[in-house]
Parts: sequence; structure tokens; C-alpha cells
Amino acid sequence: MEHSFIAWVKQRAARLPKVKLGIGDDCALIGGESMDLGQSDLVITTDSLCDGTHFILTECGAQAAGRKLMAVNLSDLASMAAAPLSIFLSLCLPRENAGDIAAGVFEGVYELADKYRVAISGGDTNVWNGPLVIHMTALGKVATGGSWLRSGASPGDAIVVTGKLGGSILGKHLAFEPRLELATELHRFGAVSAATDISDGLGIDLLNMTVASKCGAEVWLDQVPISDEAQQLSKTSGRSPLEHALGDGEDFELLLAVPQEKLASLPREILGVPLTRIGTFVTRTGLWSKDKTGVKQLAPKGYVHG
Ligand SMILES: [Mg+2]
Repeated sequence: MEHSFIAWVKQRAARLPKVKLGIGDDCALIGGESMDLGQSDLVITTDSLCDGTHFILTECGAQAAGRKLMAVNLSDLASMAAAPLSIFLSLCLPRENAGDIAAGVFEGVYELADKYRVAISGGDTNVWNGPLVIHMTALGKVATGGSWLRSGASPGDAIVVTGKLGGSILGKHLAFEPRLELATELHRFGAVSAATDISDGLGIDLLNMTVASKCGAEVWLDQVPISDEAQQLSKTSGRSPLEHALGDGEDFELLLAVPQEKLASLPREILGVPLTRIGTFVTRTGLWSKDKTGVKQLAPKGYVHG
């Protein structure tokens, strides 16, 4: 969605003391007696997926679509280090095969709801003359010690990513594991100053993090972990594996800021998922790339000019 529209909604929204953190992060933080963000009661996020945009129903089936909706919401909770409690699921079903499609979506949702012990607490079902559109709101509990926010990065903090990036269109965007367990483990180290999940692409999500944190970021291009899928896609796409890793999106890995003095305590991997340092937050605003040729401005979509 356009930044200007979100900025307008944010500016128009009433400010109420119970809403500790509203529009502009992966989740909102609501309730709690203290003004301390970490002591809020609830972490809440919402997402919608549309047939033809976020999945192709005739190719992946309703179960994969339902699983993805659940995983996308849980990924947002993971990016705040929150533990999931409960979800609400609403469906706009196409008239043809509405019952089978609804059952399939629920199967996909239950797959992760059972795994992460999340309650389905309500929702709505509609039938209409359009394609399948599915909505979810997920509620989580704030981690002891406080939530990770996008806005906590400082110049000098390391940029760290989980897993490998790029090429999610080849399947990962439907089958990824939300980094909930990893986030819970990592939160115990107390080594993360800011976090988000990679939904729009490393470049765009990193830029959003720098804007929220009022700093810039320098990405070490030769350190970005590139997935096998990005390598494979690049053979036919006309783009390099690195460009896929920087720009593709829907990786649903975590993007983290780690203060220099905490770097040594950070493990190289957690639960089998690698943690890779890919650069540094810097004072100069904007996105910058650094390689053998020097420091250049980096386009958020990840296009690298030779
Ligand atoms: Mg997010």
C-alpha cells in the first residue's frame, strides 16, 4: 500500500492512551497500566490474502492458502517476539465450491494453529460473486522483557537476518515456517534492539526500519545470504541471485538490529536457522550498499547497478 495513504490514515486516527503503539509497526500494542510499551497487554496484527495476488487457488488449493494466511500473521507476531494466543478468521468465498474451499482454508489454518497452540476464537463467513479473499486477525502476548519494535535501531547496530533470501515465488511463500520459536529463543539473549519480518523484500523492509529508527543502513552485498531458489530463478529471470535476495519479498525471515556490544553473544544459528550479519545501521539516512567498488545508494527494490 502507498506510504502516503498509510501516513494519512495514521495522522487521521484518534490517539487513545490504551493504544500504546498503533499504525506503523508489524503489530499494534494495546492495553496495560504502564506507559512502558513492553508492559502492554496484547500484541495484535491483521492480514488479508486475495486469490490471484497472494496465491493462485487453482494451483495451490485452499489448504495452502489458509496455511499461508496463518503463517503471515504469526510471522508478524514473531517479529515483535510475541507469543500467539488466538486468531479470528473471516472468509469471502466464491459461490462455486464454497463449502469445500472453506473446509480447505480451515485445514490449512488448523495445521499451524495446532502446532503453535493457537485458539480460533471467532470470525465470519460470506459467499459472493468474486474470488476467494481471506482475512485474519491474530492476538499475541507480549514477551517478558518487552516487544521488539521497528524503531529501536541505532547507528552502529549490526543488521542481522535469519535464513536465506530470495526466490520465495518458487514455493517458500506458501510453505514457510513463521519464526516464532526462533524469536522466543533469541529474545532470551536480550541482544535485539529492533526487528521486523521480511514481507515486502529485504530492501523495502530495511528501509522501513531505518525510517522508523531515524537512521540509515549500509548493506554488505557480499554477505547477503542467498537462497537456492534465488539462484535457480536468476537463470531465467534476467536478474542476479543477489537482486532476488534484496527485492523479492515474502521470505518471512526476521530482520534484526543487534548492538555491537551484544554481537559476540549472538549464536551463529538458532534451531538450525543461520543468523547472518549483512551490514550496519548508519547515521546517514537512506539505504546504502557496500562492496569492493565502494559505497553506493541502494534502490529499495534491490536493483543493483553494475
Ligand atoms: Mg510484518
